[in-house]
Amino acid sequence: MTKQAVAVVALSALPTHRRSIAQGLIQLVEPHRRVGDCRPLVSCAVTGRGTDVIINGINHELHKRVNQNHSILRGVLKGCAEQNALGSFAAQGLRYADITNIFLYVSRTDGPCMEGPRYVPCPECWNLLSIVSDAAAAEHGPEHRPHLYVLVPSQCYLPSLVGAVETKQRRLLGPHVCLVPYL
Ligand SMILES: [Zn+2]
Repeated sequence: MTKQAVAVVALSALPTHRRSIAQGLIQLVEPHRRVGDCRPLVSCAVTGRGTDVIINGINHELHKRVNQNHSILRGVLKGCAEQNALGSFAAQGLRYADITNIFLYVSRTDGPCMEGPRYVPCPECWNLLSIVSDAAAAEHGPEHRPHLYVLVPSQCYLPSLVGAVETKQRRLLGPHVCLVPYL
Protein backbone atom coordinates (compact mmCIF):
# COMPACT_ATOMS: atom_id res chain seq x y z
CA MET A 1 0.00 0.00 0.00
CA THR A 2 1.46 3.34 -1.05
CA LYS A 3 1.26 6.11 1.49
CA GLN A 4 0.15 9.49 0.18
CA ALA A 5 1.72 12.67 1.45
CA VAL A 6 -0.64 14.72 3.60
CA ALA A 7 -0.67 18.29 2.29
CA VAL A 8 -1.13 21.40 4.44
CA VAL A 9 -2.54 24.54 2.79
CA ALA A 10 -3.78 27.67 4.56
CA LEU A 11 -7.42 28.58 3.85
CA SER A 12 -6.28 31.89 2.37
CA ALA A 13 -4.06 30.01 -0.10
CA LEU A 14 -6.85 27.82 -1.52
CA PRO A 15 -8.13 28.68 -5.00
CA THR A 16 -11.11 31.05 -4.77
CA HIS A 17 -13.82 28.49 -5.59
CA ARG A 18 -12.54 25.95 -3.07
CA ARG A 19 -12.04 28.63 -0.44
CA SER A 20 -15.64 29.78 -0.83
CA ILE A 21 -16.94 26.22 -0.46
CA ALA A 22 -14.87 25.84 2.72
CA GLN A 23 -16.13 29.16 4.08
CA GLY A 24 -19.68 28.09 3.26
CA LEU A 25 -19.25 25.02 5.47
CA ILE A 26 -18.07 27.17 8.37
CA GLN A 27 -21.10 29.46 7.91
CA LEU A 28 -23.39 26.43 7.89
CA VAL A 29 -22.21 25.36 11.34
CA GLU A 30 -21.06 28.35 13.36
CA PRO A 31 -24.45 30.11 13.87
CA HIS A 32 -25.63 26.93 15.63
CA ARG A 33 -22.61 26.31 17.84
CA ARG A 34 -23.10 26.98 21.57
CA VAL A 35 -20.71 27.40 24.45
CA GLY A 36 -20.45 24.09 26.29
CA ASP A 37 -21.15 21.92 23.27
CA CYS A 38 -19.85 18.42 23.94
CA ARG A 39 -20.58 16.95 20.55
CA PRO A 40 -19.19 18.53 17.39
CA LEU A 41 -21.41 19.97 14.70
CA VAL A 42 -20.13 18.84 11.32
CA SER A 43 -20.69 19.96 7.75
CA CYS A 44 -19.38 18.38 4.57
CA ALA A 45 -19.48 19.39 0.90
CA VAL A 46 -18.89 17.27 -2.18
CA THR A 47 -18.17 18.37 -5.73
CA GLY A 48 -18.05 16.25 -8.84
CA ARG A 49 -16.88 16.36 -12.44
CA GLY A 50 -19.46 17.37 -15.02
CA THR A 51 -21.58 19.29 -12.54
CA ASP A 52 -21.36 22.72 -10.94
CA VAL A 53 -23.53 21.80 -7.98
CA ILE A 54 -22.05 21.68 -4.51
CA ILE A 55 -23.67 19.00 -2.39
CA ASN A 56 -23.74 19.56 1.35
CA GLY A 57 -24.24 17.14 4.18
CA ILE A 58 -24.51 17.81 7.92
CA ASN A 59 -24.23 15.44 10.85
CA HIS A 60 -27.20 14.36 12.94
CA GLU A 61 -26.19 16.66 15.78
CA LEU A 62 -26.42 19.72 13.54
CA HIS A 63 -29.64 18.39 11.99
CA LYS A 64 -31.17 18.30 15.49
CA ARG A 65 -29.83 21.76 16.30
CA VAL A 66 -31.28 23.27 13.13
CA ASN A 67 -34.69 21.61 13.30
CA GLN A 68 -35.21 21.33 17.06
CA ASN A 69 -36.16 17.98 18.52
CA HIS A 70 -39.92 18.40 18.25
CA SER A 71 -39.87 18.87 14.48
CA ILE A 72 -37.12 16.48 13.43
CA LEU A 73 -37.98 13.82 10.86
CA ARG A 74 -36.57 10.74 12.52
CA GLY A 75 -34.54 8.42 10.33
CA VAL A 76 -34.26 10.92 7.49
CA LEU A 77 -30.76 12.08 8.29
CA LYS A 78 -28.50 9.97 10.51
CA GLY A 79 -24.94 9.91 11.71
CA CYS A 80 -22.04 11.54 9.95
CA ALA A 81 -21.99 14.56 7.67
CA GLU A 82 -19.75 12.75 5.18
CA GLN A 83 -22.24 9.92 4.73
CA ASN A 84 -25.14 12.34 4.40
CA ALA A 85 -23.22 14.35 1.79
CA LEU A 86 -22.41 11.19 -0.17
CA GLY A 87 -26.07 10.16 0.02
CA SER A 88 -27.19 13.61 -1.17
CA PHE A 89 -24.68 13.43 -4.02
CA ALA A 90 -26.08 10.07 -5.12
CA ALA A 91 -29.60 11.45 -4.71
CA GLN A 92 -28.87 13.91 -7.54
CA GLY A 93 -28.30 10.94 -9.84
CA LEU A 94 -24.55 11.57 -9.76
CA ARG A 95 -21.89 8.88 -9.64
CA TYR A 96 -19.48 8.34 -6.77
CA ALA A 97 -16.67 7.70 -9.29
CA ASP A 98 -17.09 11.31 -10.46
CA ILE A 99 -16.49 12.89 -7.05
CA THR A 100 -13.56 15.30 -7.24
CA ASN A 101 -13.43 17.09 -3.88
CA ILE A 102 -14.76 16.55 -0.38
CA PHE A 103 -14.63 19.32 2.22
CA LEU A 104 -15.07 18.72 5.95
CA TYR A 105 -15.64 21.14 8.81
CA VAL A 106 -15.93 20.04 12.45
CA SER A 107 -16.86 22.55 15.15
CA ARG A 108 -14.80 22.93 18.28
CA THR A 109 -16.28 21.55 21.48
CA ASP A 110 -15.87 22.66 25.09
CA GLY A 111 -15.76 21.21 28.55
CA PRO A 112 -14.58 17.91 29.98
CA CYS A 113 -15.67 16.05 26.86
CA MET A 114 -12.99 17.80 24.82
CA GLU A 115 -10.42 15.04 24.48
CA GLY A 116 -8.44 16.20 21.50
CA PRO A 117 -9.63 17.09 18.04
CA ARG A 118 -11.76 14.68 16.09
CA TYR A 119 -11.29 16.24 12.69
CA VAL A 120 -10.53 13.20 10.58
CA PRO A 121 -13.35 10.99 9.25
CA CYS A 122 -14.42 8.06 11.43
CA PRO A 123 -13.47 4.52 10.31
CA GLU A 124 -16.82 3.93 8.62
CA CYS A 125 -16.62 7.18 6.64
CA TRP A 126 -12.99 6.52 5.75
CA ASN A 127 -14.07 3.13 4.33
CA LEU A 128 -16.71 4.84 2.20
CA LEU A 129 -14.31 7.56 1.05
CA SER A 130 -11.81 4.86 0.12
CA ILE A 131 -14.41 3.08 -2.01
CA VAL A 132 -15.23 6.38 -3.72
CA SER A 133 -11.52 7.07 -4.25
CA ASP A 134 -10.89 3.61 -5.67
CA ALA A 135 -13.84 4.03 -8.04
CA ALA A 136 -12.52 7.39 -9.26
CA ALA A 137 -9.00 5.97 -9.71
CA ALA A 138 -10.30 2.92 -11.60
CA GLU A 139 -12.42 4.99 -13.94
CA HIS A 140 -10.38 8.15 -14.46
CA GLY A 141 -6.85 7.09 -13.49
CA PRO A 142 -4.91 7.00 -10.21
CA GLU A 143 -4.10 10.71 -10.37
CA HIS A 144 -7.83 11.44 -10.14
CA ARG A 145 -8.43 10.24 -6.62
CA PRO A 146 -10.59 12.92 -4.96
CA HIS A 147 -9.12 15.44 -2.55
CA LEU A 148 -10.38 15.64 1.01
CA TYR A 149 -9.97 19.13 2.48
CA VAL A 150 -10.15 19.04 6.27
CA LEU A 151 -10.61 22.41 7.94
CA VAL A 152 -8.49 22.61 11.08
CA PRO A 153 -8.90 25.43 13.63
CA SER A 154 -5.30 25.57 14.80
CA GLN A 155 -1.81 24.87 13.48
CA CYS A 156 -1.06 23.07 16.75
CA TYR A 157 -3.32 20.16 15.74
CA LEU A 158 -1.44 19.54 12.50
CA PRO A 159 1.23 17.05 13.70
CA SER A 160 -1.30 14.78 15.41
CA LEU A 161 -3.70 15.02 12.46
CA VAL A 162 -0.99 14.15 9.93
CA GLY A 163 -0.25 11.08 12.07
CA ALA A 164 -3.95 10.17 12.28
CA VAL A 165 -4.40 10.44 8.52
CA GLU A 166 -1.26 8.41 7.83
CA THR A 167 -2.56 5.68 10.14
CA LYS A 168 -5.79 5.54 8.13
CA GLN A 169 -3.89 5.55 4.83
CA ARG A 170 -1.79 2.59 5.92
CA ARG A 171 -5.01 0.57 6.16
CA LEU A 172 -6.90 2.03 3.18
CA LEU A 173 -5.44 4.56 0.76
CA GLY A 174 -8.51 6.79 0.48
CA PRO A 175 -8.56 10.31 -0.95
CA HIS A 176 -5.65 12.76 -1.10
CA VAL A 177 -5.86 14.61 2.21
CA CYS A 178 -5.21 18.31 2.53
CA LEU A 179 -5.30 19.84 6.02
CA VAL A 180 -6.48 23.46 5.90
CA PRO A 181 -5.77 25.59 8.98
CA TYR A 182 -8.23 28.46 8.96
CA LEU A 183 -7.22 30.61 11.94
ZN1 LIG B 1 -18.18 9.18 10.02
